[in-house]
Amino acid sequence: MEKETVSRNFIEQIIDKDIAEGKCETVCTRFPPEPNGYLHIGHAKSILLNYGLAKQYGGKFNLRFDDTNPTKEKTEFVESIKADVAWLGADWEDRLFFASDYFEQMYEAAVLLIKKGKAFVCDLSADEIRAYRGTLTEPGRESPWRDRSVEENLRLFEEMRAGRYADGEKVLRAKIDMASPNMNMRDPVIYRVAHMSHHNTGDKWCVYPMYDFAHPIEDAIEGVTHSICTLEFEDHRPLYDWVVREVGYEKPPKQIEFAKLYLTNVVTGKRYIKKLVEEGIVDGWDDPRLVSIAALKRRGFTPESIQRFVELCGISKSQSSVDYAMLEYCIREDLKLKRARMMAVLDPVKLVIDNYPEGQVEYLDADNNLENPELGTRKVPFGRELYIEREDFMEEPPRKYFRLFPGNEVRLMNAYFVKCVGFEKDADGNVTVIHCTYNPETKCGTGFEGRKVKGTIHWVAASTAIKAQVRLYENIIDEEKGVYNEDGSLNLNPNSLTVLEECYLEPALAGAKAYDSFQFVRQGYFCVDARDSRPDAPVFNRIVSLKSSFKLPKA
Ligand code: ATP
Ligand code: MG
Repeated sequence: MEKETVSRNFIEQIIDKDIAEGKCETVCTRFPPEPNGYLHIGHAKSILLNYGLAKQYGGKFNLRFDDTNPTKEKTEFVESIKADVAWLGADWEDRLFFASDYFEQMYEAAVLLIKKGKAFVCDLSADEIRAYRGTLTEPGRESPWRDRSVEENLRLFEEMRAGRYADGEKVLRAKIDMASPNMNMRDPVIYRVAHMSHHNTGDKWCVYPMYDFAHPIEDAIEGVTHSICTLEFEDHRPLYDWVVREVGYEKPPKQIEFAKLYLTNVVTGKRYIKKLVEEGIVDGWDDPRLVSIAALKRRGFTPESIQRFVELCGISKSQSSVDYAMLEYCIREDLKLKRARMMAVLDPVKLVIDNYPEGQVEYLDADNNLENPELGTRKVPFGRELYIEREDFMEEPPRKYFRLFPGNEVRLMNAYFVKCVGFEKDADGNVTVIHCTYNPETKCGTGFEGRKVKGTIHWVAASTAIKAQVRLYENIIDEEKGVYNEDGSLNLNPNSLTVLEECYLEPALAGAKAYDSFQFVRQGYFCVDARDSRPDAPVFNRIVSLKSSFKLPKA
């Protein structure tokens, strides 16, 4: 086999070594979301990392819902998460799991720990447990219930399960070391009483395992070899290893931590997104201004663009923040050759060609994408009355303005040269109509000998235009001020959404379906809004504008 020349990230290096040393034959990874919200761009990193590793090593990738906390979990979120993971291209095949399916095994593991003298039922209240826990500089104190006999512990734990105790009255704790410098090892709670219905198991259980106890067991049961999580769990790793060892799993999974993905000045945390949704500041979890996967999809991002983005971000152990412009760069690059380039006028003003025959419509040829001839050509109707962008005409142009102004000639993209011969205004001084004459010899905008124009503008013929609503987005956060106010609330940008009610599209855009996307020449990339667009009243989202100062970071 040829030697791999691309540099390996630190996780690949660990896996290479584990395989070389025979610690595992192949790889099994998982993505373990808690079904308490929608996934966001940060989760995409975790999903694609885990799936990518499994694929690279010819191993397996599991999707497992970490549904051990019944309070916040909902079936709605299970469904949205499945849809998002699949859309991103990560295939769990037939390995869709729920941590709640392992509740019985977790309970048995707890009983085993009790029998080994490694767990005990504790009657201290939550506040007392906290007080006994000590601090980073002082050791904790042992619970007065720490030395209960195995028999008593078994009986009490069984009674906990049977519903004899109220929430918080008793907990099961691991018996490890109250003097450990690692707070997580100071007799952590591993089971609690919670009289709550669970989205999956209903009222079967009233004791639920804690995350630090449940997670290693879930991984071990599934034969996960490398359990990849984010940095905040680094201090939990000794407990993870303790659980795996004490419960006696033969093939211990290995926890590896990497740095979370953060976007500068962008809200990613589930908690904040939830707040924006609940307060009605956005129109749902898939509002195109958010960076939930559902929102990115609705805005018009493609799985490929997100894959590329995650690749560019790389995997690291140190926390950093990436610019949103990099995400925009990735979608622009992805759509550049794939999408047709159409004409759409977003801020229309009428242009009348005085010497063009009234009622005549002719069909002109236009390339769908000059950089990719495979996308073919289309016919664009042309007529006497057109719409052009308001900003493409000026009554009194500044220097270097090459678009329309009285006496000036421009090229109408894919059509003719036109010369401005006059204009009309309303009582408020707004330009309402621009008058031009055209030169029939300049058809298809190629010009003819001795004649050049400096400006080219796009247009849409009025009689065949489709009227559409177009939504322009900006960051929901006011970037000047940063994400959070002093009181922890979000600094919102009041201009994050601009709705343009009267835009005109060329008729080739009729019949565009939800999620279809296009370049609108000179404007950017736009996508049919999946929620609000109707065949007779289309709605487009701007995915991204065309220009950017973003430069790809040097590798
Ligand atoms: P958030 O804190 O944003 O609400 P979470 O960590 O609570 O997310 P989980 O459902 O617990 O969400 O996370 C599932 C997996 O996704 C975990 O393995 C977690 O480490 C990973 N993950 C969460 N946020 C990020 C992120 N910003 N970058 C990379 N991975 C992440
Ligand atoms: Mg979490």
